[in-house]
Amino acid sequence: MSYNFFVHTDLTFGKDAIEALPGILESEELERVMVVYDAGVKAAGIAKRVLQEMNKVKGLVVTVFDGVEPNPTNELIEKIYKIAKTEDVQGFVAIGGGSSIDSAKAVNVLMTNEGPIGNYGGIGLVKEKLLPLIAIPTTAGTSSEITNVTALIDTQAVCKYVVIDNKITPTYVIADPEFTRTMPPSVTSATGMDAITHAVESYISNMSNPLTKYNSIQGLKIFHKYLQRAVENGDDMEARENMMLGCIITGFGFSNANLGFVHAIAHTLSAHFGLPHGMANACVLPYVMAFNAKCCEDEMIELAKAVDLPLSGNKAEDSLALSKELLAMTKALKIKTLSEQGIKESDFDMLADDVLKEPVLNFNPRTGITKEDVISILKQAF
Ligand SMILES: [Zn+2]
Repeated sequence: MSYNFFVHTDLTFGKDAIEALPGILESEELERVMVVYDAGVKAAGIAKRVLQEMNKVKGLVVTVFDGVEPNPTNELIEKIYKIAKTEDVQGFVAIGGGSSIDSAKAVNVLMTNEGPIGNYGGIGLVKEKLLPLIAIPTTAGTSSEITNVTALIDTQAVCKYVVIDNKITPTYVIADPEFTRTMPPSVTSATGMDAITHAVESYISNMSNPLTKYNSIQGLKIFHKYLQRAVENGDDMEARENMMLGCIITGFGFSNANLGFVHAIAHTLSAHFGLPHGMANACVLPYVMAFNAKCCEDEMIELAKAVDLPLSGNKAEDSLALSKELLAMTKALKIKTLSEQGIKESDFDMLADDVLKEPVLNFNPRTGITKEDVISILKQAF
């Protein structure tokens, strides 16, 4: 049996990596570029640093969009697209976490493919090749800089949907761990738990293969070792560097293997209640993994061994070791419960109905998930 492993991106990683930007822009012969970011990136001074590098390119016309919001909507994508079209940009630079990079990916689809963006929800529906996109991550979690996925909110249907297509993968990544230094502990822990979710869900996904599994398990090892350190001391640059590297390694894995039940719940929570993506994943992750363990005991034990958890030799018991460890991590990192994030038990029925509509469930190893199963997970995470 054969399998495919897609790798697309030209990656520059490490301290002062941003200095590669002018050369990339020149090699692509870009004359008009749009830079996409949010208020946090602006406040941290990162946008200014990137724009400094762009100013080194003679004659480059730069259009700035600095109004990206968390959980980008179809309306936001349309708004940015109209500006990009009017300015006739030839490429994009996206600076930020998942929201900025996901927004630029979606806008880039519309530059060469007819809208609306909602038409591309699903796998492999983008027809035309996209413009160059340079992703500059400022968080360590979503891996959006390296993946073929963009997650958007459909405000009409009240759901989060994903466009999955190799064509939307950023052309270049410039990853400088220094850009994650100013991330506050709450964002570091939430985005880091998102990264752990990617590693675990992609490892047990029914789309995984030996290459994706290698990436997922390496990512998990790194996150398990360094996440707590990065949260406790944001200036611990060894931890910051490893977290960023882990996200790229894991991103290669889950771009190919996809995700599962945790993300199905997280997308629904974000669509209805605006929960930040990482937080939404983190609060249900341990319970979903305990639920999944029943059908992939061997894989769960492999993951537990990878992070040196003590095992008893009893297979059923050992398959739950990782979910227990993840629960301990969420407590140590002060991840909020669903009730602490404003969710009410009376919301569970509606949420469960929508979780079951999530296409990402197709990749979850345990199939036949019922409404009662979803409500049971939500109750445990309450
Ligand atoms: Zn995620």
